[in-house]
Amino acid sequence: MKQHLENLISFQIEKNVIEKRDYIYIKNQLYSLLNLTVDNELKPQKITSPAEALEPILDKLVETKGINDSIVERDLFDSKIMNVFAKLPSDLEKKFYTLREEDAKKATSFLYDYLINLNYIRMDRIKNNKHFIKDSKYGTLEITINLSKPEKDPKDIAKALKQKSSAYPTCVLCKENEGFAGNYNRDSRNQHRLIEFPLLAEKWYFQYSPYIYYNEHAIVLSEKHTPMKISEKTFARLLALVDYFAGYFFGSNADLPIVGGSILTHDHYQGGNYSFPIEKAEPLFKTTIADLTIELLNWPLSTVRLKSKNQTMVLIYANKIFSAWKNYTNEKLNIIAKTADTPHNTVTILSRKKGLEYELDLILRNNRTTEEYPLGIFHPHEDKWHLKKENIGLIEAAGLAILPGRLKVELEEVKQHLLNKKALSENNKHFVWANSFKNQATKTNVDELIERQLVVAFEEILEDCGVFKLNKEGLAAFKDFLEGSIKDEKNNH
Ligand SMILES: [Zn+2]
Repeated sequence: MKQHLENLISFQIEKNVIEKRDYIYIKNQLYSLLNLTVDNELKPQKITSPAEALEPILDKLVETKGINDSIVERDLFDSKIMNVFAKLPSDLEKKFYTLREEDAKKATSFLYDYLINLNYIRMDRIKNNKHFIKDSKYGTLEITINLSKPEKDPKDIAKALKQKSSAYPTCVLCKENEGFAGNYNRDSRNQHRLIEFPLLAEKWYFQYSPYIYYNEHAIVLSEKHTPMKISEKTFARLLALVDYFAGYFFGSNADLPIVGGSILTHDHYQGGNYSFPIEKAEPLFKTTIADLTIELLNWPLSTVRLKSKNQTMVLIYANKIFSAWKNYTNEKLNIIAKTADTPHNTVTILSRKKGLEYELDLILRNNRTTEEYPLGIFHPHEDKWHLKKENIGLIEAAGLAILPGRLKVELEEVKQHLLNKKALSENNKHFVWANSFKNQATKTNVDELIERQLVVAFEEILEDCGVFKLNKEGLAAFKDFLEGSIKDEKNNH
């Protein structure tokens, strides 16, 4: 164990997480945490990630009954070890802002690497994800099978049930998570750090996601635990964010259930240093108003793109289109704005800046359900639930599917079925899907074929979610809606 600690300390000095000057202090802290007596004679060995040292340390702790052998207890403990290396939030913030004075990108890159080296961003698990990119009708689409979050074992689940539930922190996004030790119900946030920053005269916080889905996957959150609500302010904030965090896109999930993200109770946006497939979508229709370009995109979800160097013009027209959409009904297309007083229409939003030009994508969403579509008319339809039943949030709407980890095992079974090695039972949820392309399968193409069929299914899932279908009737209605929304002065408030 002592050798691995030595390796870990040496790694953190090499990565500039701590300075050489801190060596003795850090070593004493770690030895005390692990109930060890200090040994002076160890020479460090080179490691390439914190996990390389942490795993054997945790194994040893399990062996000596320091912790129970469960993924939850291991995670709760390794974050305690790593927090010994972490700066206080105020010190980290100072470092961030010092770098930011030189270059905004330098500050975010530093923070990202720092949190990887602290094992807050768990790269060793993230690299288990299966990711691939394929062509589709709409340009490329991307798929990630999410294998980064380990499944809790039954013992942990039983302990979680016994854990006294607490209202602190109020939710997983609240700022009170910074340094929170965690428990059987809540992941540890010992070495979690936030960067406070001003957003249109309000206090907001910037952080990275511990399980990133794409490069530099960031989250910004409101100081207050207030619900997601899309308004004029949302557009203004998303455009201010792309100015403040250079090189990053930002996006907001929709603010209604079914079409929204998983957390609607705390106002937050996602961002990152990543270019989603939607960014490359071509316009099917284009119009200009002064220095503003408005495009209707060739994208399965109905998307309007506003482009201009003039931020005010983007804001004015985003509001016009959003206001018009909130009240838009087209019964022929099954789009109904409200049931009694319950609204159904909302938007998923993405913002980016290219050179001096702002881009804002408004993805029109509707969350109405019917007897035929109990989970939503504009939600993945039942024939794709075997692959994805969850909400289509902003990451997916932008062309990156996050598919559940269960598929790893299930797709292996599909593969065996396709190769006539072990047939799927007729009750298997993938049976119909697998048979629809079974005749194309050969020993050499089977993996590629499954990936291609997953992309086809994802394309159809996104089409299910599109409110205006890209057929003649749908496109004509979409164009009418768009032209009406930008002309109608009644919408201008
Ligand atoms: Zn909260």
